[in-house]
Amino acid sequence: MTDFDQQLADELSALREADLLRQLRRVECPAGTRASLDGRELLNFSSNDYLGLASHPALKEAATKAIEKWGAGSGASRLVCGSLAVHHELEEALAAFKGTEAALTFATGYAAAQGAIVALLGKDDVLIVDKLVHACVVDAAKLCGAKLRVFRHNDLNDLEAKLKWARKQQPAASGQRPARILIVTESVFSMDGDLAPLRNLVELKERHGAWLMVDEAHATGLFGERRLGLVEEFGLTGRVEIQMATLGKAVGAAGGAICGSRKLVDLLVNRARSFIFSTAPVPAAAAAAQAGLAVIQSQEGETRRQRLWLLVEGLKRVLINSGFPPSAVRAPIVPALVGAEARAMALSDALRGAGMFVPAIRFPTVARGEARLRFTVSAEHTAEDLTTLGDALKSIAHA
Ligand SMILES: *Cc1c(COP(=O)(O)O)cnc(C)c1O
Repeated sequence: MTDFDQQLADELSALREADLLRQLRRVECPAGTRASLDGRELLNFSSNDYLGLASHPALKEAATKAIEKWGAGSGASRLVCGSLAVHHELEEALAAFKGTEAALTFATGYAAAQGAIVALLGKDDVLIVDKLVHACVVDAAKLCGAKLRVFRHNDLNDLEAKLKWARKQQPAASGQRPARILIVTESVFSMDGDLAPLRNLVELKERHGAWLMVDEAHATGLFGERRLGLVEEFGLTGRVEIQMATLGKAVGAAGGAICGSRKLVDLLVNRARSFIFSTAPVPAAAAAAQAGLAVIQSQEGETRRQRLWLLVEGLKRVLINSGFPPSAVRAPIVPALVGAEARAMALSDALRGAGMFVPAIRFPTVARGEARLRFTVSAEHTAEDLTTLGDALKSIAHA
């Protein structure tokens, strides 16, 4: 082995010994409630395709038509010649959907978070994030160089203490603009399925002259009367500076979006490096996302959403009855805390043996010793699927 490979092999062995080694699993079928893995069909409880739109005929047709009309690729970054009408149409639809002046799309949600945070903050500014925010926010914090403070999960008192500290920070050189303070939270937390106290957060940030960015990755399409997300459900549209959405979860396509004022979007076009220095998303993704938004706002979308909430309640009952009590959640993300990484892995493997695909989520996605089974449901699951899951869980409870 070369020294290069030897060093990497040592690192991989250390991961394996700590039960933290990850490997890709090859899936031989489209995203759905069944996953064909290693030649076996498994019942899939791991997807974020909550409304079952990833394989919906309307999205597939929109993607196919976009390929016919616009080709497979976009040809260049948005600021060069890649800003195709199909991207602008999606952004207009998103702004209308979110009730904001404007929206800007990125190739992924990860890129959207990174672009926005790096565009808005520099080393004299302060970024205050919930302990459980997604890795894309943590990475952006490192990249932008702002002073980073982490508040305990959903703890408003801890946040207020950090805000008071932040207000005392002054720019290094006089004559500069005042230091900015940006709070970032998720509305539905991706690994815990719980909700942020958004109304209190908004009051607090207004009192302290801070800005708020809400990552609605797991709320877009699911919450609020018009299904815009939790910011809408809590009646806070217009009081949140930066609303972030992903288009690859309930929307069923791919991409990320920042929704907010016209000025915000104009600034991002000039300063968001992950937007500027990256080829525009493929036309098919933009068209599929727009079709996804249309389904979400239709009567069919409402029917799917109602089915989903019934299935979430059913899933919780199944978990309680089979000895895996779930955390208190109000989302289609239902984690059952296990603790040790090795135990979570063993349970996930045993479930796979019983025909169920349920991922074990472990460090570094969640804290060490807080490994869990993370169940997600989709509107396409059936009541029988849940019964089958319950039987499998009972059969492996002593594994
Ligand atoms: C999935 C996710 C992202 C990233 O979105 P992608 O489009 O998958 O890159 C960001 N934030 C949260 C909370 C997520 O769950």
